Amino acid sequence: EVAVLRLGHRPGRDERITTHVGLTARALGADRVILAGDGASRADTVEDITDRFGGPFAVDTVDSWRPTLRDWDGAVVHLTMYGEEVQTVESEIREAHRERRDPLLVVVGAEKVPFDVYETADWNVGVTNQPHSEIASLAVFLDRLFEGRELDREFEDAEKVVVPQAVGKRVVDAGDE
Ligand code: SAM
Repeated sequence: EVAVLRLGHRPGRDERITTHVGLTARALGADRVILAGDGASRADTVEDITDRFGGPFAVDTVDSWRPTLRDWDGAVVHLTMYGEEVQTVESEIREAHRERRDPLLVVVGAEKVPFDVYETADWNVGVTNQPHSEIASLAVFLDRLFEGRELDREFEDAEKVVVPQAVGKRVVDAGDE
C-alpha cells in the first residue's frame, strides 16, 4: 500500500491545495489519502471524483496526524525541500517498498512542518532543493516510485471514462468505450 498523509491544512487558504493533493495521489497511483484535521473537509470532493472516474482509492480523515505517523507500520517518506535528493534515494525507497508487505506513508505539509516529522521519517526527500509545492513534489515522487507505470493504470468501477483526443473532449459512460 502507498498512502499519502496531508498535514497542516489551513481553512480558506488551502482548500484547493488539499483537494489537489488527494486527486494527485489518486491519479498517480497511491491507494489512499489521509486528510488530517481541517483538511477532512475536502474528503467529499475527492470521493466524488473516485465515484465518477473510478478507483480503488480510499479517503480517510483523522482528527490529528500524530497517531497516524507514530503508529505507521511501514516506511515513512516526508517530502521536504530540505531533504535528500529524490534521484539519490528513490531506488532505496523502491526496494524497501517492493515487498508490498511494507506499506509506505508519503507525508506532505502545508505550512511549517514540525521538526519531529523530520525525525520520525525514514527518509526526508527533496524533489529539487528548491521551494515549490506539495502537489508538484507528490506527483514527481509518485512517478519516480512507480517508475512511470502508474500512467498505464486502469481505474475500476468508473461511471465515466475519458477517451484521449488529439483535440477536443470525449467522455463516455464506462462500458461504452
Ligand atoms: N516552508 C515550509 C517548511 O519549511 O516546512 C514548507 C511549505 S511548502 C509550500 C508545503 C509543502 O510542500 C512542504 O511541506 C513539502 O511537503 C512540499 N514541498 C515544497 N517544496 C518541496 C521540495 N522541493 N521537495 C519536496 N517537497 C516539497
